[in-house]
Amino acid sequence: MTGSRSIVFTNVAEGAQRSAAPRPGLTGCPWHDVKAMLRDVGLRPTRQRMALGWILFGKGDRHITAEMLYEEATKAKVPVSLATIYNTLHQFTDVGLLRQVAVDGSKTYFDTNNSQHHHFFVEGENALLDIPDTDVIVGKTPIPPEGYEITRVDVVVRLRRKGR
Ligand SMILES: [Zn+2]
Repeated sequence: MTGSRSIVFTNVAEGAQRSAAPRPGLTGCPWHDVKAMLRDVGLRPTRQRMALGWILFGKGDRHITAEMLYEEATKAKVPVSLATIYNTLHQFTDVGLLRQVAVDGSKTYFDTNNSQHHHFFVEGENALLDIPDTDVIVGKTPIPPEGYEITRVDVVVRLRRKGR
């Protein structure tokens, strides 16, 4: 696993393109899909959850903060408070629809791609990019303390532009 580490860093020059392919098993109709998605995880498809789910999941995989979602919801004329946005994001995270990525104490991103992967964070640009190949980062998993098990490993690799 070690020795292939440089492969990761070639990706960022390409802009680390993320695929916008729809999730498998979805019909392609975002409204219908969001309803099915919420029902699958046992959340009642309320009007607000439907609207926010549609904004979140209707555009392929992406990383979004509560503030960004609030802005998009406001633009889409979805009447919703920032507190509701936070609640909904955490509910979606609790049931596994989203993954939370804490970049630092003040910045939390929610990832619509809930599969196991790590991230680049571009400092100064607040951009979060996927690192698709998990094995490249975590070569050796530490042994957890007695009585605990590892749920997952999140790695954020920080970047800055060269020559600035
Ligand atoms: Zn991601």
